[in-house]
Amino acid sequence: MRLSRYFLPTLKEAPSDAQIVSHQLMLRAGLIKQEAAGIYAWLPLGLRVLNRVEQIVREEQERAGAVELLMPTLQLADLWRESGRYDAYGPEMLRITDRHERELLYGPTNEEMITDIFRSFVKSYKALPLNLFHIQWKFRDERRPRFGVMRGREFLMKDAYSFDLDEASARKAYNRMFVAYLNTFARMGLKAVPMRADTRPIGGDLSHEFIVLAETGESQVFCDRKLVEMPVPGADVDWNDLQSIVDQRTALYAATEEMHDAARFESETAEADRLTARGIEVGHIFYFGTKYSAPMKARVAGPDGKETEVHMGSYGVGVSRLLGAIIEASHDDSGIIWPDSVAPFDVVVINLRSNDEAVCVACEEAVARLQAFGKDVLYDDTDERPGGKFATADLIGIPGQLTIGPKGLAEGLVELKRRATGEKVSVPLDEALARVRG
Ligand code: ATP
Ligand code: MG
Repeated sequence: MRLSRYFLPTLKEAPSDAQIVSHQLMLRAGLIKQEAAGIYAWLPLGLRVLNRVEQIVREEQERAGAVELLMPTLQLADLWRESGRYDAYGPEMLRITDRHERELLYGPTNEEMITDIFRSFVKSYKALPLNLFHIQWKFRDERRPRFGVMRGREFLMKDAYSFDLDEASARKAYNRMFVAYLNTFARMGLKAVPMRADTRPIGGDLSHEFIVLAETGESQVFCDRKLVEMPVPGADVDWNDLQSIVDQRTALYAATEEMHDAARFESETAEADRLTARGIEVGHIFYFGTKYSAPMKARVAGPDGKETEVHMGSYGVGVSRLLGAIIEASHDDSGIIWPDSVAPFDVVVINLRSNDEAVCVACEEAVARLQAFGKDVLYDDTDERPGGKFATADLIGIPGQLTIGPKGLAEGLVELKRRATGEKVSVPLDEALARVRG
């Protein structure tokens, strides 16, 4: 991608209402533009990262056995009347009336709709266990939208819904999502700690929030320090038996403010291990039994032919919020430092003199060869001065920066910089390309 043909509206300074660093950097790096309170347009660079985050979430859901579908953003109010939540949900729900005076709502979540889809088609226990997920925009008319995409009103969520014949198998479904979440966040370079969480307003009796520790987090959290450094389970686990992995993590104290019990925290955790911190909720999993299947009559015939209400769970990931969380965890004074796994481009090739024929030829060769081995390349072919180019490259946080200018080229050298470490080397182009290839 040639920067001169791209759309990257960076800002020298963030608007003063952007209070936290991730929000400031997302605006400055040209990732998003605010359209209304808590509603953002995703600009090209932001969309690239959003898509990559979404794809990691998708891959880990599928690895854990969940199946993707896509439900609409608009839902019928009548569906929510069946569960009793149409009145219970309150002012966070955006209610809409169509030309026929039919009441609709912009979905804040999809328990009712997925239960309806399930009951329309599934009649036998043989289809279970089943876990269906989608990645779709949600709307919640938050009282205080703030911190950019962290607490938006319109935001992208992955929500999965599991269906099982009984509680024991529902817990296995819960465990699969628990482990999938550990793997998902780790792939994005995040340390997310599962913490006991309150179950309202969705209801139920088993729930964990996945929290990324960050000073700017909205939640107060309490946990055993050892949880933060615990190794990630990885893909090679026995997906049918994850209880020991879950037990290992839930045995140590970790709770959000609503669930915190100071006395327990002190008795269960050595003083040196007691961590009180702020955190960002990036995921939330619930087991809620028959809360929706009972009123909505989602039943299957069991092996004995008797009809039973299915046991359900729901599992959310704040896909758009994750961009904020990743930036909170990975930035410096010059800008964003994207982890390789979610970076919008792998390498930026910086042309230091775009009116110099030899430099242009060398840059174009570098771009072509990088692309040939599968790298996503942003080519800064603009006529901006070098200082501005370096500042932009640092601001937008692309992991590799390959700089080619007339002086170096005369000696057969280019400069390669790792954004994360700031480490720079001057080497021949072949060597630089080999290093990027890894
Ligand atoms: P919060 O406590 O932050 O308001 P929640 O508990 O109401 O969130 P859930 O219903 O658990 O949210 O939604 C699943 C996930 O969606 C959350 O873990 C979070 O990552 C994300 N999310 C929820 N609300 C927002 C929002 N307003 N903006 C961005 N992401 C959100
Ligand atoms: Mg939650």
